[in-house]
Amino acid sequence: MITRFAPSLTGYLHLGHVLHMLYVWGMARKMGSNVLCRIEDHDLSRARPEYESAILETMEWLGFVPDLGMSIASATGSSDFRQSDCTNHYQAVLQTLEKRGLVYGCTCSRKEIQQVMSGGTVSSRSADAEEGISRELCYSGTCSEKGLPLEGNTVRFRTLEGETVFQDLKLGEQRQNPRLQCGDFSLRDRNGQWTYQFACVCDDIRHGVDLVIRGEDILFSTARQIQLFKTLEAPVPGYFHHPLILDSTGNKLSKRQRSESITQLREQGASASELIGKAAFLGGLTETEQSLTCSEALLLFDK
Ligand SMILES: [Zn+2]
Repeated sequence: MITRFAPSLTGYLHLGHVLHMLYVWGMARKMGSNVLCRIEDHDLSRARPEYESAILETMEWLGFVPDLGMSIASATGSSDFRQSDCTNHYQAVLQTLEKRGLVYGCTCSRKEIQQVMSGGTVSSRSADAEEGISRELCYSGTCSEKGLPLEGNTVRFRTLEGETVFQDLKLGEQRQNPRLQCGDFSLRDRNGQWTYQFACVCDDIRHGVDLVIRGEDILFSTARQIQLFKTLEAPVPGYFHHPLILDSTGNKLSKRQRSESITQLREQGASASELIGKAAFLGGLTETEQSLTCSEALLLFDK
């Protein structure tokens, strides 16, 4: 079996990532799986290459050593495990979908999609915020039969009808309907940047990933990936979604807050065991906060 840790290059690692790594390496240990490390920098407009070595170095310092893929030792030169080096691969997969008529070009802006969703009037952001709604855009398929070129436009995937049902290895049976949640979702934006859902599935297929461990915050989008696996006639991996560490306001930790980063906490004198113990405690893996080395923490998953 192969599972993966796939950090994006949008910031430094924080305690939420430490908890995620505990789940990835812990479940891999429990299930006899290898861990592959992949750098997710598919969106070049957001990725910052300078984070790559900082992330790989922090992983090693904490004690999380991948069995396959990127590591601090293999980080120089082009890599099959760095998304920005694999754009030809995504292009080839897209071409197979295009030949089968499963994708189309779309010129709609975000605002136009919102207008269609709300029947012509754009609801104000503040009203949504007051109601506490974080509404996902659901694309109605305006351009699906226009035959627009893919180049220079958003490329959308024709979602399959109906519910996708899957067994989450932690949360049990899940039912999602991408057609109603998001409609035909995008694989590449109009500027040519690949989307997370697409790059991630292409990579999981070619890397042979058969166990995917993710945070609960992205559970809602799993069926989209499953639809892509099925359409590309690839085996669907097992999915395991774990709880997150929330901040004092109930939000998930943000990568962009350098003050909370492992890099910063380390500079302030924290040891790897202290930080692993803290992440395990905040994530509910232990009942009291205590220092734990990486290998000690992974034993928690034997239960
Ligand atoms: Zn459109």
